[in-house]
Amino acid sequence: MKLYIDGSWEEAHDSVQLASPYDGRVIAEVPVASEAEVERAIDAATRARKAMAAMPAHARGAVLDRLVQLLEERKEEAAQLISAEAAKPIRTAREEVARTIQTYRFAAQEARQLHGETLPMDAAPGGENRIGYTVREPLGVIGAITPFNFPMNLVAHKVGPAIASGNTIVLKPASQTPLSAYFLAELLAEAGLPAGALNVVTGSGKVVGDRIVQDDRVKMITFTGSPEVGIGIRNKSGLKKVTLELGSNSALIVDKDVSVESIVNRCVKGAFAFQGQVCISLQRIYVHEEVYESFVEQFVKATQALQIGDPANEATDVSAVISEGDATRVVDWVREAEQSGATMTCGGNRDGSVVQPTVLLNVDPKTKVSCQEVFGPVVMINRVSSIEEGIEHVNDSRFGLQAGIYTNDIHGAMDAAAKLEVGGVMINDIPTFRVDHMPYGGVKESGTGREGIKYALEEMTELKLVVINRNREGGK
Ligand code: NAP
Repeated sequence: MKLYIDGSWEEAHDSVQLASPYDGRVIAEVPVASEAEVERAIDAATRARKAMAAMPAHARGAVLDRLVQLLEERKEEAAQLISAEAAKPIRTAREEVARTIQTYRFAAQEARQLHGETLPMDAAPGGENRIGYTVREPLGVIGAITPFNFPMNLVAHKVGPAIASGNTIVLKPASQTPLSAYFLAELLAEAGLPAGALNVVTGSGKVVGDRIVQDDRVKMITFTGSPEVGIGIRNKSGLKKVTLELGSNSALIVDKDVSVESIVNRCVKGAFAFQGQVCISLQRIYVHEEVYESFVEQFVKATQALQIGDPANEATDVSAVISEGDATRVVDWVREAEQSGATMTCGGNRDGSVVQPTVLLNVDPKTKVSCQEVFGPVVMINRVSSIEEGIEHVNDSRFGLQAGIYTNDIHGAMDAAAKLEVGGVMINDIPTFRVDHMPYGGVKESGTGREGIKYALEEMTELKLVVINRNREGGK
């Protein structure tokens, strides 16, 4: 692979071998950008700023439309890339590509709808005979830093709205998943995006990421990743706009009147899709005591039926986590929970980077599998005696991305909607639910700002006010 700067593919001064997280086989040679190369990418994005800002809405929409078409044509190739670089089971990778196409489709629509509003200036004395209106202007250069877990769709949530709103981008994808970002650059060049509007630079977060974050010409950082890195970025960003989409230990409440059988497969998917490496992965489940035994029994049975193996295999549900270090950490956290009194019903071991899907019961809330983000195939199920108690447990967290509640009690559901301290409440669904146009983001240490194309466009534009004085005597 080569760096993508100013519309050209460039050899980097250094490179590194990219290995499959599943079996360690080398899948690509990836460039490692130096500070000087990142600097050139920012130069190119800065030069392209005016051309992008001047591009009419229909032309920005058309580039995104063409990208959608190209992705449709090459969707299987895209899924294979994601599966290889991230060890994402191929069926799950195909789902990600389908979502990515949706995301760019929404971006193409929003490109044509970006507008301000007119203001009733005469609502204030002294405002008579004036027309006030707002416009949304692009910020200029946007630095996008993305994680490994949805390497194509989370890039789309940054690149899509940035193009739709006439910005330019310097993209730094996660070191483990650069291939889908370079693939996107190839498609966008073919789709007619002007040179310099998208630049892709790979290399370590500390060097490449830091250089982007600290450059004054970059007007906004849009970051998705871990809270530790996100908070560091925030502290170094000065006056830049910053949106942070960070982690979570997402939770679900199951009420006593729910048909367990009808929800259990969906809950298992929420807990173990992509090995639990999803920011809204279902990590904590609080089940009413009246249905607890039945829920646990059916959940464990469905978990044990999951197919573990090679991500390229069509039958695989669960494969390797992103690194062996993460597999070790996840198993250590499970041991800690057991030592604090939790019961392990299944899983709990690993084979290399593959961690068995693990279900823990009666978990002490102070242990890491409860209060931190596991980001692995581990779920805990605790017993509660009321929705109210469930809400207290869900809120007892540093994080607040999304939460879910299954109940047939409208009052309980509305109570939960009002009291849960999260960015999104899913009633009669798992917290893992997301479609790509809804506002998405967290409170507490789950971040600041919202994605979901329309909402990201607001973050990526500056509101400008224009007032026209229609009084014939201009002094009035
Ligand atoms: P990560 O380690 O924080 O890395 C995210 C990105 O930041 C990578 O591109 C990384 O580069 C870069 N980076 C690392 N250190 C940096 C620094 N000092 N300055 C600037 N950039 C730096 O996260 P991850 O392990 O890839 O992803 C998992 C995390 O993302 C989880 O916490 C998950 O919950 C969160 N996430 C949140 C959402 C959401 O929408 N809320 C969605 C998905 C994931 P390198 O790869 O080179 O280190």
